[in-house]
Amino acid sequence: MTAIAYTRYQETPAGCAIDLSDNTNLWGVAPSVAGAFSKFSAQDLSRYPSPYSNDLKRAISEYLSVDESRIVTGCGSDDVLDSAIRSFGSRGDVLVQCDPTFSMIPVFAAVSGVNVTSISPHRSDLVARALAEKADVIYLCSPNNPTGAVLDTDLITAIARQSRALVIIDEAYIDFGGSTSLALALELDNVLITRTFSKAFGLAGFRVGYGIGSPSATRRIEAARGPYKVSTVAERVACAVLENDLRWVHSCVAKTIENRARFANELNDIGLPALPSGANFLMVPVPDGRRFEDGLRAAGIAVRRFDALTEIGDALRISIGPWEMLQECLHALRRISR
Ligand SMILES: *Cc1c(COP(=O)(O)O)cnc(C)c1O
Repeated sequence: MTAIAYTRYQETPAGCAIDLSDNTNLWGVAPSVAGAFSKFSAQDLSRYPSPYSNDLKRAISEYLSVDESRIVTGCGSDDVLDSAIRSFGSRGDVLVQCDPTFSMIPVFAAVSGVNVTSISPHRSDLVARALAEKADVIYLCSPNNPTGAVLDTDLITAIARQSRALVIIDEAYIDFGGSTSLALALELDNVLITRTFSKAFGLAGFRVGYGIGSPSATRRIEAARGPYKVSTVAERVACAVLENDLRWVHSCVAKTIENRARFANELNDIGLPALPSGANFLMVPVPDGRRFEDGLRAAGIAVRRFDALTEIGDALRISIGPWEMLQECLHALRRISR
């Protein structure tokens, strides 16, 4: 057996009072969670959940007006992405992604021996490049992690219509900007969108995500995923938030978008302009990532550092949360950049 080149995901740094490193909901947890949590019987917890999360599928189906047969759930959307790549990619197949993008994709591809080809999202020939690779799987993330860039829906549509690949559109940050490709996923059999309860919905600790695509694609992904991936507790809590807390989610999103614009203005003023972002974070190119990260760490602030990104260089990805947190971060950045 050949060893798989395998990267461990970076852990959230300990000992930072202000953690702006992982794009979770920094306004806390939705109001229904505590109540949903207290209602479990011994029976609920000693038995298995439903194998493929029927209650959650029903709740998502109502939320998005999508038939349940088109939904696949998972232990986080990572689980759905992993299962999709495993079920549609075999050894020697090609997965096309933009560079930079979500760092877990090459890890999932490597497990199946799928080769990853990265293309630039900025070139006018993006569609032609994506199609020329004769990919088996195309991964597009919009808004993109870690840049925040929103991909034009016309480009996504052109790629999906002309390719025979499974086109995965990762919408982990769709609540914060950009247009959803949901209609495309309902129209074309080769399109899968993935979403998560970890970011806008504030449930990262519960691990719940889902995908929407054709009934045959979601069934195939579900088979590769296996049963019981969403726990009884996670399913119940996610259903409660969809049922009762959408206004809370929307208010967190509105505050995030407001603070994102304000933070971007302040960053401009201190000479550290951020890239345009449709997500709940800003990517800030810096001259020396390590020096900035260390300086922020010394001030008790965690951010995510990226080294020598294609076309960007060193950069910090900073999550958007309550203004007091961002203000501390600005103070520290101002000090470090002087
Ligand atoms: C956070 C994130 C995910 C997955 O999150 P889960 O917690 O596994 O649902 C997927 N894609 C992108 C781009 C992300 O940033």
